[in-house]
Amino acid sequence: MTHEFVHESRPGRVVFAVGARTRLAEEVDRLGLRRLIVVCTPEQADLAAELTLPLRDRIAALHPHATRHVPTAVAATAVARSREASADGCIAVGGGSAIGLAKAIAKDTGLPSVAVPTTYAGSEMTPIWGLTGADRKTTGRDPRVLPSTVLYDPALTLTLPSRLSLTSGINALAHAAEALYAPDGSPITALMAAESARALAGALPRVAADPRDLEARSDALYGAWLAGSVLGATTMSLHHKLCHVLGGAFDLPHAETHTAILPHVLAFNLPAAARARTALESAFGAADPGGHLFHLAEDLGAEMSLAALGMPEDGVDTVVAQALATPYANPRPVTETDLRAMVGNALTGEAPA
Ligand code: NAD
Repeated sequence: MTHEFVHESRPGRVVFAVGARTRLAEEVDRLGLRRLIVVCTPEQADLAAELTLPLRDRIAALHPHATRHVPTAVAATAVARSREASADGCIAVGGGSAIGLAKAIAKDTGLPSVAVPTTYAGSEMTPIWGLTGADRKTTGRDPRVLPSTVLYDPALTLTLPSRLSLTSGINALAHAAEALYAPDGSPITALMAAESARALAGALPRVAADPRDLEARSDALYGAWLAGSVLGATTMSLHHKLCHVLGGAFDLPHAETHTAILPHVLAFNLPAAARARTALESAFGAADPGGHLFHLAEDLGAEMSLAALGMPEDGVDTVVAQALATPYANPRPVTETDLRAMVGNALTGEAPA
């Protein structure tokens, strides 16, 4: 067999170190930014204020109003605030919600951003933006929303609660898994995705056992960086499609939804995706990665029932209809019956069939 692929490297600088937070001013200087808007969730306002203290002369606005899935009204307010403040750049401190809001600002204004991620979601490495209207989430790609610089400091993840650490880590694992069977993967993305899965599968039980274990935190964040990178570089399949529909239709929590769905999609897809199956078997040291992940996540305290996360009992029809409405890539053809079985099992928290 001969090689055939297209690989595109994205611009962007990554600084990864315990204590990287202290290099924020230096990185902002490198970009020549003078009037910054800082975005974060309300819960992380104190952290954002503390991290940006050395830059206080250059902070034009602190905007702690990020919420999950970036509602269009929340985005519009943040864009208006950045214009009022005549900001020339943005700093996002937090998880995918904060980084998503910085992306919404960049999408409308073109402002460059520095991201300081504190979860494993990986949005900081992608040119993908997302906005949520009345009951549906819209996403798109725009190179302008990719942060110019990303500062990864594993010490900032020590406060991430145990359960969210686990589910956020499985959110990252989902990016790696789907990159391994992506229709547009390359040898580089395959290496990165397999390494990501290895790092995450090894780190997550250690983080669960001791959330203050800095080496385990460093391994998990390293895996999350690689996962975000391949998320940005490849096309995701059924798993991300289902999570996107569920998040938009029922406002379900992001990382938890990924955790409840991924075992079912892996059990369905891996028989048709040899490379992903081999990489995940090796990462977990177990055959049947879907079933293994389900029991691992459940044993470590994750909620595996979408109903318990807020999906209505009669919501399966909505999910199936939206998932069937637009085509998407997948290594295995998916019928309505397959979808009903997967979503039905995830709704009640059954192990994969
Ligand atoms: P999040 O950003 O909503 O964070 C969840 C909660 O945890 C928030 O209350 C936050 O303040 C808190 N938190 C975050 N880090 C913490 C820490 N270290 N210590 C204590 N509390 C902390 O959750 P998320 O899972 O990171 O992001 C989910 C969002 O990101 C979704 O909207 C999703 O669609 C988006 N996302 C986008 C992409 C992309 O490429 N565009 C990729 C992944 C996720």
